[in-house]
Amino acid sequence: MLTGIQSTGTPHLGNLLGAILPAIKMSEAPNLESFLFIADLHSLTQIKDSEVLRKNTYSTAATWLACGLNHQKTIFYKQSDVPQVTELAWYLSCFFPYQRLTLAHSFKDKSDRLQNINTGLFTYPMLMAADILLYDATQIPVGKDQMQHLEMTRDVATRFNNKLGDTFAIPDAIVHKETMLVMGTDGKKMSKSSNNMIDIFLPDNALRKQIMKIQTDSTPVEEPKTPDNCNVFKIYSYLASDSEVKTMRKNYLNGGYGYGQAKQELFELICRSFEKEREQYSYYMNNFAQIDSILKGGAEKAKAVADPMLCKVRGKLALKIN
Ligand code: ATP
Ligand code: MG
Repeated sequence: MLTGIQSTGTPHLGNLLGAILPAIKMSEAPNLESFLFIADLHSLTQIKDSEVLRKNTYSTAATWLACGLNHQKTIFYKQSDVPQVTELAWYLSCFFPYQRLTLAHSFKDKSDRLQNINTGLFTYPMLMAADILLYDATQIPVGKDQMQHLEMTRDVATRFNNKLGDTFAIPDAIVHKETMLVMGTDGKKMSKSSNNMIDIFLPDNALRKQIMKIQTDSTPVEEPKTPDNCNVFKIYSYLASDSEVKTMRKNYLNGGYGYGQAKQELFELICRSFEKEREQYSYYMNNFAQIDSILKGGAEKAKAVADPMLCKVRGKLALKIN
């Protein structure tokens, strides 16, 4: 199993619920070898400031660790520590039609709001394919926004295999039934690169402020409200128990219950649900040396898998590189 997350900012509630927590849970299965990594090379498509990149790498690593990743069992590493992946990405890109890449979400979704549309952003899915195929990973937990990229990975692996004989295992997307696409404070997909996230690791006041920003309609306090159209209710229901959800639903339908109250309850629920993670996160953010050493250990284990795979690919291509 393999999954990664870009270090384009501190992971948000959507990343946690949609990717990090399900992947950690999955990685605990006894007979499964898991690779969880920080996609810092992918982040370069958006961020050029080395200090910001460095800080984001730590906050992303701290998030995985705070959420309970077991780095003894799971191979936990930083993408750039295993540069073999960039070589494989090049080979793969030579097997994939340009035309199909123009349809990739990574490119289409961001091209209207990023100032710098660079070639790296365009070829993002090829680096992602290399991330997966280099480690012979077959089970890829993905959020709904990544399904299309995974399809491209399967496609490029098949094209390579068809031309040069069986080389890559064809990976499957693992979409957990309960995996959700969390919407941001503006009602669009929560993203590190849109200014619409809920960062559960912020201090209480700042976190509360973010939650208060969630857009709602303008139904007055005293009137009944439709819970299923409301993003506050939706996010609340991802975290709350069945009976808590029932109570909030009733409050919405009865009226006399304002969005401000619902947001306050959501804030309190987030604080309660992630108490341990928030504490652990600040611990790791004050112990960078420990993160460095964990990532270094992970990179060594990852390289031991990556090297033979890359040798096999070079062999198929009749390339000998020392
Ligand atoms: P960026 O804006 O830089 O693309 P992002 O917030 O989309 O950042 P990624 O690093 O691209 O985060 O994605 C990491 C993982 O989080 C992926 O598996 C993706 O499917 C998942 N994910 C991202 N956003 C959400 C969301 N809003 N809800 C659920 N899962 C999400
Ligand atoms: Mg994204």
